[in-house]
This record gives sequence, structure tokens and C-alpha cells, in this order.
Amino acid sequence: MKLYFYYGVMGSSKTANALMKKFSFEERGKRVLLMKPSLDTRSGKTIIKSRVGLSSEAIVIESNSKIRDLVISHEKLNNPEIIIIDEAQFLTENQVDELREMADNNIMIMCYGLKTDFTGRLFPGTKRILEICDTVREIQCMCTKCGTKAIMNAKYCNNKIIYTGDIIDIGGDEKYIPLCHKCWTLGEI
Ligand SMILES: [Zn+2]
Repeated sequence: MKLYFYYGVMGSSKTANALMKKFSFEERGKRVLLMKPSLDTRSGKTIIKSRVGLSSEAIVIESNSKIRDLVISHEKLNNPEIIIIDEAQFLTENQVDELREMADNNIMIMCYGLKTDFTGRLFPGTKRILEICDTVREIQCMCTKCGTKAIMNAKYCNNKIIYTGDIIDIGGDEKYIPLCHKCWTLGEI
């Protein structure tokens, strides 16, 4: 089966897309598992929520988790036909390789995530996905300032764009805004 990568900037409805995909597969009787990498030490399950109100329970993947072990140990759904992963940019390279192997062994893998961090560089997980996925699709979103296509996840504070700092800094609309490259270089939002 194939490994798909759907990428888009923050605010491009990736999570809503992922959840709608899950619901539509389930309507057709498919066994679908929803997963999400975690950056902290929480383990077990979490709820994935989209801005439009959809939500679903997901299995948390920690940075040292083996994805296959998490799947096999699932109480109800240990032989999924489809695995959907939200926030896939936070997967480790080894986990992406594991997903590739699972795709080769007949599980459809659909990864949703960011292409680049707020400095405009590929996340390591994303880099590995781009290297070995079958299909890449962009989920488009408009620049908040000028309305052209947004490609940057601008990080900001007091209306100033921040260009350096720790790459992993979890946040939402209060911290990140989708911009086109030109607006991003201007330094203010
Ligand atoms: Zn713009």
C-alpha cells in the first residue's frame, strides 16, 4: 500500500482533513487507527480536535515508541487497514522508516503535518517522509496579510516575527500565523 503525505501550514485544516478522512473510511467499514506523536512524556491516548469542531481519540506516539508495538497492543484495533497520523512532522526518522515498512506490508499510511518550522527549514520527520513517501499533496491556505498562498509558519510576539530560537515550541494562533514568503520577510504582522 501507499504512504501519503498531506502537508500544509498551520491553520490549513490538516487536522480537520485527517479526521474527515478517518470518518469517511469508517463509514465504508474500514479499520482505521488514528495516531499522533507527542513531544512530552504523556503516554496512552489523547483527543485530537480540529478548529471546525471534529474530534476523535488518538493513540500517542512517544519519541521512543515503536509504532508497530503500539498497534499490536491496541485492545480493539490491532490489525488496521489504514493508519492516519496527525502532526507527522514530529515523528522520528526511525518511526517514518517503520511506517514505510508497514505500508509495504499492506497498511495504507496517511501522514498529515507541517513541511517546515518557523525558520523555514524542514522538520527531520518531514524530511524523511518526503524522501520515502509515494504521494505528496499540499493543503493550501492563504497568507493572513495579503491573501496569496501561505508557505511559512511565522512565529510572532508583539506583532514582530521571530526568526530564531528553539525549533520545537508548541503553540496555536496566539503564536503562529500563516504567511507568504514575502510577508514573512517583512518582519511584522
Ligand atoms: Zn503575504
